[in-house]
Amino acid sequence: MENCIFCRIANKELSSEVVYESDQVIAFRDVAPVAPTHILVIPKEHIPAVHNLSMEQRNTLLPAIFEAIDQLVEKENLAEKGFRVVNNAGQEGGQTVNHLHFHLLGGRSLQWPPG
Ligand code: 5GP
Ligand code: ZN
Repeated sequence: MENCIFCRIANKELSSEVVYESDQVIAFRDVAPVAPTHILVIPKEHIPAVHNLSMEQRNTLLPAIFEAIDQLVEKENLAEKGFRVVNNAGQEGGQTVNHLHFHLLGGRSLQWPPG
């Protein structure tokens, strides 16, 4: 997807602060962080949103994404105090970039429910 910013970040056409990378997944710091740790974990492959995952992708990509989250929780020292993993889907879900991504947020007390 040529015009997708997250595809361009995954392809290294756009710069970002990459904090994790595997065959299928890349994670980088959000350009406008809302918490001391604000990392975006994405599949390298362009998938628009979470409900667009095929059964095969659910079985292969989701474990790879959660492996990344697990390693980042360790690296960012988030396990003890807690953290949040967020996926926004579609317009009313607050998704602004239409390439599947999971926000990993931590380092401060987070409110619930969100607005
Ligand atoms: P969404 O609202 O779609 O769940 O989250 C998209 C996130 O991507 C936002 O938190 C936004 O700050 C972040 N973002 C948008 N463009 C860029 C970019 O070019 N680089 C980085 N690192 N983050 C971006
Ligand atoms: Zn994309």
